[in-house]
Amino acid sequence: MSGALLSRRKAFRRMTGFGGTLAATALPKTAQASAEEHPAHPVAPPQAIAMLYDSTVCTGCKACMPACNEANGLPADTELSGGIWDMPTSLNAQTKNIIELYQDPKSDEFAFVKKQCMHCLDPACVTGCPFGSLNKNTLGAVTWNPSLCIGCRYCEVACPFEVPQFQWEDWNPKIVKCEFCYEQRLKVNLEPACTAVCPTKAVIFGKRSDLLLEAKDRIAAAPDKYFEKRVYGEHEAGGTQVLYLSSVSFQKLGLPKLGTTSLGHYGTKVTSVIYKWLSGPLLMAGVLGFFIRRNWDRHEAETAEQERKTGFPEQL
Ligand code: SF4
Ligand code: SF4
Ligand code: SF4
Repeated sequence: MSGALLSRRKAFRRMTGFGGTLAATALPKTAQASAEEHPAHPVAPPQAIAMLYDSTVCTGCKACMPACNEANGLPADTELSGGIWDMPTSLNAQTKNIIELYQDPKSDEFAFVKKQCMHCLDPACVTGCPFGSLNKNTLGAVTWNPSLCIGCRYCEVACPFEVPQFQWEDWNPKIVKCEFCYEQRLKVNLEPACTAVCPTKAVIFGKRSDLLLEAKDRIAAAPDKYFEKRVYGEHEAGGTQVLYLSSVSFQKLGLPKLGTTSLGHYGTKVTSVIYKWLSGPLLMAGVLGFFIRRNWDRHEAETAEQERKTGFPEQL
């Protein structure tokens, strides 16, 4: 049987599996999560991990970028350099981690900034995902489960940091985002690839509570060095598990100005309305998916029988 035929079958199974998943799960737990489960100001558990990125220490060497690609099995983005260098211009379908340069054309002011998932304490992407494909684990890493994802891209819309990226060019597209190297490294007691490789320790890994103390110690030791003498991510969007120190305004670095209320908390209010409205059509799609899938399974059984008898595959 040809690869193309197999691919079509797989694609069809995926489509009808969508309906089946809907029928089986109707609306999953995350979609129905209540505002009580998502307090406006979440408290990080004691075991919560984090990264602290100090822009004043970053030399812009970009060693963390290929290290991230390698750890995640992603090819370099060489489009801009004509196939030579890894030169992404933003987070994209093959870039989970990027170092960007902020430069003021009117002065000497410049700074580097590292961008990746912020691993929010109460992530809007998790609340926004209707099928529970995004999950925040006990350490706080926000991970993605391909088997539950239907590619609706609600997570992309929900994220205020524009982190989740969709693989437009792949026939079986994935959502690409930093997952804290959870599967590849944390699970085997290794720190994330980007923190392990950083030569200046501009980005370090540890417990969130320890890194917050470390950041505040740095500010106390050199208060004039740090913008607003505060840590970005301590309270923004209800708190994040990537923390930033900078000598220039966080907004100049492209970090959005956000309130202190958790986005997951806002998200439950929005999704409860959306899912209430969508539940009818979703259930209808689920029922249709079930019947299409059942007919397809019958068709496949008949095809297999024909192949067994004639020795030739049926052409689709
Ligand atoms: S490896 Fe460290 S110093 Fe180099 S660009 Fe990345 S964060 Fe900055
Ligand atoms: S930064 Fe975006 S993708 Fe990452 S956890 Fe927060 S909402 Fe989700
Ligand atoms: S934690 Fe892993 S996936 Fe995330 S930016 Fe660092 S190296 Fe990349």
